[in-house]
Amino acid sequence: SPDQGESYLARLNPEQRAAIETTDGPLLVLAGAGTGKTRVLTTRFAHILLTERAKPWQILAVTFTNKAAKEMRERVSLLLGSPAEGLWLGTFHALCARMLRRHADYVGLSSSFTILDTDDQLRLLKQVMTPWQIDTKRWPAPGILGVIQRWKDRGLTPERVTDAEDSDFADGHVRAIYTAYQARLIQLNACDFGDLMLHVTEILRTRPDVLAQYHRLFRYILVDEYQDTNTIQYLWLRLLALRPGEPSNICCVGDDDQSIYSWRGAEVGNILRFEKDFPGAQIVRLERNYRSTRHILGAAAGLIAHNDERLGKTLRSGRDDASGEKVLVVGVGDSDEEARDVCGMAQKMRAEGHSLSEMAILVRAGFQTRAFEEKLVQSGVPYRIVGGVRFYERAEIRDALAYMRVLNQPSDDLAFERILNTPKRGMGPAGVQKLHAAARSRHIPLTAATQALLAEKELKGKTGDLVRALMTALDTTRDILAREGHVVAVEHLLEESGYLAMWQADTSPEAPGRLENLKELVRALADFGTLGEFLEHVALVMEHDENAGDARISLMTLHGAKGLEFDIVFLPGWEEGVFPSQRTLDEGGLKGLEEERRLAYVGITRARKHALIFHAARRRIYANWQPSMPSRFLEELPDEHVIRHEARDTLHRALRSADSVFAGGAPLVARRRRDPLAEQAASFQLGDRVRHPRFGEGIIVAANHHHVDVAFENEDGIKHLQSTFLEKL
Ligand code: ATP
Ligand code: MG
Repeated sequence: SPDQGESYLARLNPEQRAAIETTDGPLLVLAGAGTGKTRVLTTRFAHILLTERAKPWQILAVTFTNKAAKEMRERVSLLLGSPAEGLWLGTFHALCARMLRRHADYVGLSSSFTILDTDDQLRLLKQVMTPWQIDTKRWPAPGILGVIQRWKDRGLTPERVTDAEDSDFADGHVRAIYTAYQARLIQLNACDFGDLMLHVTEILRTRPDVLAQYHRLFRYILVDEYQDTNTIQYLWLRLLALRPGEPSNICCVGDDDQSIYSWRGAEVGNILRFEKDFPGAQIVRLERNYRSTRHILGAAAGLIAHNDERLGKTLRSGRDDASGEKVLVVGVGDSDEEARDVCGMAQKMRAEGHSLSEMAILVRAGFQTRAFEEKLVQSGVPYRIVGGVRFYERAEIRDALAYMRVLNQPSDDLAFERILNTPKRGMGPAGVQKLHAAARSRHIPLTAATQALLAEKELKGKTGDLVRALMTALDTTRDILAREGHVVAVEHLLEESGYLAMWQADTSPEAPGRLENLKELVRALADFGTLGEFLEHVALVMEHDENAGDARISLMTLHGAKGLEFDIVFLPGWEEGVFPSQRTLDEGGLKGLEEERRLAYVGITRARKHALIFHAARRRIYANWQPSMPSRFLEELPDEHVIRHEARDTLHRALRSADSVFAGGAPLVARRRRDPLAEQAASFQLGDRVRHPRFGEGIIVAANHHHVDVAFENEDGIKHLQSTFLEKL
C-alpha cells in the first residue's frame, strides 16, 4: 500500500533514497562501513516489490552470509506483510547450488549430487593424486588443493588452465591432477564448493537457452559486499546481468576499504571496473555512518588512512549520541591474562546492563578462539562460535553426517568410508583397499561392492558380521525413512549402527558433550523437510546457532564478522605476528599489509558503542611462551580517539570496583603515577638520530608527551610515532 511506501522510505536519508528510487539501470553504491548499504539493498528489494516492478521470484539477491540472507528475508517479509517465499536470495554458493540442481545433467551430475566439505575434498584429492607420486613434503596436498581452488575462483575449468599457469607448482602436474579430481567428483555424483560456481557459470557460458531463461527470469539483481567478489562470481553476475536489448538492472553495494578476501581470489578491481562493465552506471555515495560513535569512527578512519590504495571516502557520524567512549587499548602481560581480562570485562559490562548478545570477541585467526572458549566456559559466560562450520566440524557430528549422507545417497563413497569403521568393525586399511579394488573393477559404488563381497563370502568372521549388521541397519533405516520420515530414521540408524553405543560406552570426559551434540543435531534435523534439504543446508551453512534465543557473547574471526554489528566489540591479539599475521610479515609486501589493515578497519567498525583492543607482551605458541610486540596498527590509531591503558593493576582494580572500565569520566591512565610511554618519549630529544624496525634510520624533528615526529631517510614525509620501537643511535 502507499502507506507502507511512505513509512519505509521516510526512514532513509536523501542519498539512500536516491539509491532505492533509481531502480532501473546499473547502480553502484560505494560507501564506508555502517552507512546503510545493506539496509539500502533490503529496502530496494521491498521497494521493487511494493511498486510492482517485479514478482518476488524475479529478483536475484546475493548476500555474503547466510545470516544476512535470513535477515533480508525477514525484513522483506515484514515490509510485505506476508512471508516471502520462493525468493532467489542467498549466498553465491546457495544460489548456485539451487541452479545446479536444476541443470545438473549438463555437467554429468544428477540433481541429488552431494556437496563435499574441505575434509572430504582433501581425502579425495590425496586418493586421486597417488599415481603422480608427488613429493608431498615439498608440495603438500592442501597446497595443491589450494591451487585448484584458485583456478576455480577464476573460472578455469581444467581445459581452460594454460601451460603457463600449470608450470609453477608440483612440477607442472596440478592440471592433470585437477582433471582426474574433477572426473572422480562426477563419478561420485559430488561437487566441492568451488564447483557450485564453476559448473553453473560453465553452463551459462555454453548453453544460450539456459542463459536466456535466466535473463527472462531475473529482472533485478542485488549484490551485497561487492568488493569481495572473485572472478568467477563476477563472471556469473555479468552473464546474468547483461541482457540483450534490456537494461542491466544490477545494483551492487560495497566498500573498497573492507575488501578482505583477496586471499580467496576476491578482486577489488571489480568495483573499480563497474562503470566500464555496465555502461550508463550511476554511482551513489553514502557518507553518514549510523552505526558507531564518533571516537570509534575516528579511530577507524585514522587507521585506514594509512593505506595508500584507496578510492577515498568521507565518513561522518550520523548518530545523535555523537560523543561516546574512546576506543580502549589494553596491554596485558600474556595471552592467558588477555583471555581472562576479556571475560572479566564482558562479565562486568553484562553486570552494568549490557546484553551478552550485543558483545563479540573478534579474533584474527581461528587458533585464538580456543583460549577464549576455555575461559568463557570456566567463568560460565554463555557464548557461541559464529562463522566457520565449527559445530559441524566436531568429530561426532561429522560421523553422524556421514551416516546421513550414506542414507541419502548410497553412492557417497567418501561418507561410507568414514562410517565403515566407526565404530570399530575390524576394517583396517587393507580391508578398505580390498573394497576399493572391488568397487573399481566392477564400476560400482563402495556400498554395492561391500554387499557383493559379503554375498560372495569374501568378508568373513567377526568383521563380516559387523559389516553385515551395518548394511542391514542401512536397509531397515531406508524403510523407516520412507514410512516415518527422516528424523525417526536418523535416530534409528545412529542407534542400530552401534554409533551411539560407542559414545555411551566411552568413559572420557568429552563423551557426554558429544552425545549432547548428537542430540542437538537430530533436533536441527527436524527443522527441515527432507534429509537432502538438511544436508544441503549443512554443507552451505556458515553460521549455526542462529536460533539460540538466550543471550550469548559471539566468538568469531574478523573475516566472519563482516557486515555484522555489536554494541561492544573485543579485539584481542593486536600484536606483530598475530595481527598483522606472521604470514603477511614474512611475505613483506605492502599489499598484504594493507589487507590486514582493512581487516582491522572492519573489526573496529563492527562496534556501535565500545571497542576494546588488547595486546599481550607474551603469547603461548604451542607449548612455548614467546615475547610479542604491539601491533603497528596501535600506533596508527589517532590519539584523540583512543585511551591507552598499559597498567594491568589499574585495570584489575576497575574490574573489581564499581568504576567503569572505560576511562571516559575519570581516566584510569591519569590516576597512574608512572607513565612509561611518556618516560620513553621524554628520553628522545630534538635532533636525535634514531632507528625504527620498519622505517629505518631518521632524525627526531619534534617530541611531545607520548609521541615523537621523525623524518626517516627512506620514507616520504614525517611520521608521528610512539617511541616504543625507536632505538637511539
Ligand atoms: P557494512 O559496511 O559494515 O556492511 P552497511 O553500510 O551495510 O555496513 P548497514 O548494516 O546497512 O550498513 O547499517 C548500519 C546500521 O545503521 C544498521 O543498524 C542500520 O539499521 C542503521 N541505519 C542505516 N541507515 C539508517 C538511517 N537512515 N537511519 C537510521 N539508521 C540507519
Ligand atoms: Mg553491510
